[in-house]
Order: sequence, then structure tokens, then C-alpha cells
Amino acid sequence: MPTFTDSYKHKGLRRALIRSIRERGIRDERVLQVMAEIPRHLFLDSAFELQAYEDRPFPIGEGQTISQPYTVAFQTSLLEVEAGHKVLEIGTGSGYQATVLQLIGAEVHSIEYQKKLYTRTRQLLARFGIHPHLYQGDGSLGLPEEAPFDRILVTAGAPVVPDALLRQLAIGGVLVIPVGDRERQEMLRLRRVSAQEIEREAFPSFSFVPLKGASGWER
Ligand code: SAM
Repeated sequence: MPTFTDSYKHKGLRRALIRSIRERGIRDERVLQVMAEIPRHLFLDSAFELQAYEDRPFPIGEGQTISQPYTVAFQTSLLEVEAGHKVLEIGTGSGYQATVLQLIGAEVHSIEYQKKLYTRTRQLLARFGIHPHLYQGDGSLGLPEEAPFDRILVTAGAPVVPDALLRQLAIGGVLVIPVGDRERQEMLRLRRVSAQEIEREAFPSFSFVPLKGASGWER
């Protein structure tokens, strides 16, 4: 079990945040319950402590952001992740989303492009007693040595769906990825129903930091 230092004040703010996310239409109670347990302020610079339970993204350094809580809840719900699933996350960032997936009971593999963020987040999660498999590198190439994955979640905006990620999706597997231009993306849910066939659904409209790397916007 993770060890978080929390307070009644933060718990109260978090309850209000979860209520507002539920009112915006998130119905996956398991996801909401896990998010209600995680002190988001601990994943942010202490300068943001009082704002951490507002439903918005915040800077985490290196020009990157922790995603808005509603977006984390939306992506995680779309992913239909279950305990025991092998999950690949592209864009570890602050480690918050990886923690959500880990507390649902998934086997989490998460890749971060920025070395400084990778190092900082690795230390932070270890302090909480949370140990997903963390990697530094270009997640647009996936993680072939660990494939196939039951679930793949991309937390940066991509210009296209990277072929490598589709190849690394198990049959029955689900890939959730924001795809569009640099400003706006639609959220795609791609389900591999057979070796040849992929089902596709799209949900408007999100705004993520750009995916970098071989299948991203820039290297
Ligand atoms: N999931 C993160 C969290 O819970 O804090 C939020 C991620 S932030 C919106 C997007 C992250 O994707 C950034 O940390 C960025 O450095 C990372 N990123 C961008 N391109 C990447 C790539 N090709 N491979 C791995 N990480 C990438």
C-alpha cells in the first residue's frame, strides 16, 4: 500500500473535486474512488498546494503539465482498465496518472521523454512506496520488449496514431490517444478486435502538450 501524507483540508477539497467530475458525466466509480484516495497536491510543486484540487492542469517543469483531473478520469474510464491488465502509459510526467493505474491494480509500464522529469518522478513515486515500471525514452515507439499490452494510454497530443503502438496492442486490447493538431485533439479509443481489425471511436475535444519523438511533432 502506498504511504501518502494527507490532511483533512486536502481530503475535503478532493471530495469536492471528485463530486464536480462526477457531475460532468464521469460514471466509472472505481476510477473516481481511486482518484479520491490520491493526494494530487503531492505531485505538484508546493507553490500550487492550495490550487491542486481545482479542475485544471498545472506546470510540472520542463514545459510540461500534469493533466486536468477531469481528463485523467475521462481517459482512464475510456481505457476500461482492470486489475491485472498490462498497461503501457506514454508520458509519465508527474506520475499521477501512473499512480491511478497502479492503484486500480494494473501492471504499469510508463515511459517519459524528458530525463529530468523521469528522474524526479521516479524518486517521488519511490517515496510513496509506488513502483510502476518506469522508462526514459521515446514512447511513440512503444516498448516492444514488453509487448503485447492489454491497454495503452497516451497522455500527450499526437499528430497521428503511431503504428508501433497499434502493433503492440493485444487482441481485445484498447489504445486511448489524443490525436489532432497542436492546439486541439479528439480522444480516440481504438480496440483491436482481431489481428486485422481495429474498431475506432472519437470523443471531442481536448488540448494536450505535444507528443515528441519519432511519431510525434518534434524530436
Ligand atoms: N500523465 C502525466 C501525469 O500524470 O502527470 C501527464 C503528462 S503531460 C500532459 C505529457 C507528458 O508526455 C510530458 O511529461 C511529456 O514530456 C511526455 N512526452 C511527450 N512526448 C513523449 C514521448 N514521445 N515519449 C514519452 N513521453 C513523452
